[in-house]
Amino acid sequence: MEFMGFGVRWRHWILSCLKSTPILVLVNGSLTSEFKLERGVRQGDPLSPFLFILTAEGLNALTKAAVNSNLFVGSEIGSDKICVSHLPYADDTIYFVEWSSQNFRNLMKLLKYFELTSGLKVNYKKSKLYGVGVNNCEVETMAKQLGCDFDTLPFEYLGLPIGSKSNKISSWEPVIEKFTKRLSDWKAGDHIDSIGVSFKDSFSKSIGNGYNTRFWSDNWVGSSTLKNRFRRLFRIDRDPNAMVKDRINRNGCGLWEWIRDPAGRTRGQFQELCDLIAGTRLIDKPDSWVWKLGGNVEFFVWRTRKKRIPSLIELDKRGIDLHNVRCPLCDDDVESVDHDILFCKHPFDVWSKVFNWWGLNMASSLCINEMFTASPSIAMSEVGSMVWQAMIWTCGYLIWWNRNQNVYNNKCWTPPVTLCEVQVKLFEWISKSCKIKKIE
Ligand SMILES: [Zn+2]
Repeated sequence: MEFMGFGVRWRHWILSCLKSTPILVLVNGSLTSEFKLERGVRQGDPLSPFLFILTAEGLNALTKAAVNSNLFVGSEIGSDKICVSHLPYADDTIYFVEWSSQNFRNLMKLLKYFELTSGLKVNYKKSKLYGVGVNNCEVETMAKQLGCDFDTLPFEYLGLPIGSKSNKISSWEPVIEKFTKRLSDWKAGDHIDSIGVSFKDSFSKSIGNGYNTRFWSDNWVGSSTLKNRFRRLFRIDRDPNAMVKDRINRNGCGLWEWIRDPAGRTRGQFQELCDLIAGTRLIDKPDSWVWKLGGNVEFFVWRTRKKRIPSLIELDKRGIDLHNVRCPLCDDDVESVDHDILFCKHPFDVWSKVFNWWGLNMASSLCINEMFTASPSIAMSEVGSMVWQAMIWTCGYLIWWNRNQNVYNNKCWTPPVTLCEVQVKLFEWISKSCKIKKIE
C-alpha cells in the first residue's frame, strides 16, 4: 500500500483492522482487567476483496517486471503485434504465453515467487491450459508438467464463449438465450413492483386487532405482501380482500376459506404461510402503519422504544457514577428520555408548533412512546395518517439530534428552525417516495 501511494494514516487504519488490540470494558461503572481480542479478516468480510485486489496488484506488477526484463514473453496479437501477457479479472488471471518450455518454467517461478511473498496460493487444480495452434498431445504433456488441467477451445469465461468464431451467429446464441431468459424472469417476477418505491411501500402495517389490514394485499408480515409471495394460495382464497382478523383468530390460529383445499405444490406453500404467520397475535388496539424507510430515524425510534437512548437517568440506572442527573439545558427535571425529547423547554415548544401546523392541540400527558405510536385525535385518510406518523418520528429524531448538538457541541438551537427542518425533511422524503409535489 505504501508503494501504491496510500498515506500513513490510511495504512494504519487498515492495519489496525488486522492487528490485535487490548480491550477494557466498563462493567457497572468499573473497569475490567485488560484482555486481547483476536482479529483478522474472514471470508465474506467486506474488507477482504479490497485487500485481495491490493495483493493481486502485486502479481500484476511482478508479471510486468518479468515481461520488461524479457524473462517472460506474452503473445503478440493483431496486425499491430500488441503484446499481451496477462489479463486479471477479479480472482481470475489469464496468462498468454508464447509456447516455449523456457517461458513456462519462468511463469511457474513467477507464480511461486508470488505465493511466497503474498501468502496466497495458486490453485493449480482449478487452472487450465489451452493451446492455440499447438496439438493436443503437446498441451496435455505440458499440463502434466505444470500440474494443472487442460482443455480445448472454445470455452466459456464469465458466461461468454472464448475461442469460437465471434462473427458466427451460432456462437452467440447461448448468450442471447441467457439474456432473454433473465429479462423474462425479471418481467414476470416481483421486481417490476420494486423499481419505483411507491409511497405505500415505505410503510408496513403493525397488526393490532387485524380489522384494518388486508391479509393478502397489505404489507404486514415478511418483506412483501402475501399475495406476491404465495400467488397460488392467494388464487384459491374465497375472499381475496379478507382482512387479517378474517384469517387469524385471537389465539393465532388460521381461519381458512379455500375454494379447494391446498394440495400438491400449494400444500408446501400453505405450510410455509402457516410458519410465517405463526407468531401473530391479535390485540385490542387498532392496526397502525410503521414507517420502513426511516434509516437513522427508524433506528432512533427503535432505540427510544427500547429505552436505549443514553439519557443521564438511564446511565445512572446502569450504575454509572454521575455527578448530576438533572437536565443540562433547563435544570428543571432529571434528564430522562421523555424529558429530553418531549418535556424539556425547547422540545415542548417544537412539538406545540408541529401540532399547531396540523391545527391540533398537543396532549400534554403523553410519554414519548405513546407519541410515536398514537394516532392523531382527528379522523384522517390512510395516506394522511402515514404522513402523520412520518412527521412525528422525524420530529422526535430532529429534536434529539439538535439537543445533542446543543449539549455537546454548544450549537445554538431554536424551535422555529426545528419546525422548518421537520417540514423540509418530511417534504423531501415524501417527494422522493411519491409524486406529490406540494404539501398543504
Ligand atoms: Zn430540560
